[in-house]
Amino acid sequence: MAAPALHLAWSNPVRIHWGAGCFQSLVADAPVVVLADRAALSYENETLLLERLGHHCKGWSWFQGGLASVALAQTLCEEIWPVLRTHPNATVLAIGGGSTLDLAKVLRFRFEDSRTAADAWRSNQLPASASRHPLWLAPTTAGTGSEVTRWATLWDTEILQPVKLSWSPANGYAEHAFVDVELSWSCPLRHSRDCALDTLSHALEALWNRNASPISEVLALDAARLVIEMLPVLLEQPAKHEARVALARASLLAGMAMSHTQTALAHALSYELTLNEEMPHGEACAVWLPMVWELAMGASPACDTALARVFDVPAAEGVQTLRTWLHQLGIAGRDLRTTAAGRATLDQEMRSARGRNFIASP
Ligand SMILES: [Zn+2]
Repeated sequence: MAAPALHLAWSNPVRIHWGAGCFQSLVADAPVVVLADRAALSYENETLLLERLGHHCKGWSWFQGGLASVALAQTLCEEIWPVLRTHPNATVLAIGGGSTLDLAKVLRFRFEDSRTAADAWRSNQLPASASRHPLWLAPTTAGTGSEVTRWATLWDTEILQPVKLSWSPANGYAEHAFVDVELSWSCPLRHSRDCALDTLSHALEALWNRNASPISEVLALDAARLVIEMLPVLLEQPAKHEARVALARASLLAGMAMSHTQTALAHALSYELTLNEEMPHGEACAVWLPMVWELAMGASPACDTALARVFDVPAAEGVQTLRTWLHQLGIAGRDLRTTAAGRATLDQEMRSARGRNFIASP
């Protein structure tokens, strides 16, 4: 029987510059305001970038670590928006991990009245009067794929019950992404592990996803298999260039898949661990992957077939292989199905914004 017709609008407007050294090809012919992660940009690269930008560099702010919170975004607005107001054609250039890139995705929309910003972020409503500045993103970790998605995570931590917000205006994509493996050398090994686990989570979440398509599946499978093969290699041989390149490629491919599918149940469950246990995002997703894999099995023949290709064994065996692989990286899976309270949490998260993308959600 012929496969059913597929009507798919696949697009991603981000212009991707890929390869070792591509960041050094960045040139500006208009004003630029930089937001960079102090821990991720070496002094050498900072100097080289300043030289290349020259008089076009109109402002420079540092991300000093921590969660990308509403409070931090407000502080950065106070620094950056006056400069953007003076230079209304300025580009925002962000260099760093997912938090830095996400903050830049928020700040590139400049509001007339900065006092209204937090309410707009909380309601995910972009005012018609907001000015949109061009955005260039240079990831220094191989993991989040944030450079090719249009949404940003903000944490609202100053309220009684902290929550994770998603800022996702329709035109929230960056104009350019510079995926340069040379920038990821500054990333500590433990952080590289967690970022690669985030990539694996994006890839698997794109497979067990209601929005999956044949295109997202190819990207996600390639990404998952690259992480599974090359993350253990990187952890054993941190200087191995090929491993860093493979993980940067996996992050980009998983990000492209996720830009169409969004994330799903493992991400929905991860946010509570990041807020309450301060668990790094990649690890907080990875602990749920074996349970979510088991829940996904049987929901769709196409998904079962895709999961079987992750380890080239039937999906039911693949989940055991995944458990062993994670265990060797020091990650113990968690399971909510063993207690009534856990099952209630699972049911609740399956109905959440991200959980509803999961292929086996009600
Ligand atoms: Zn993630």
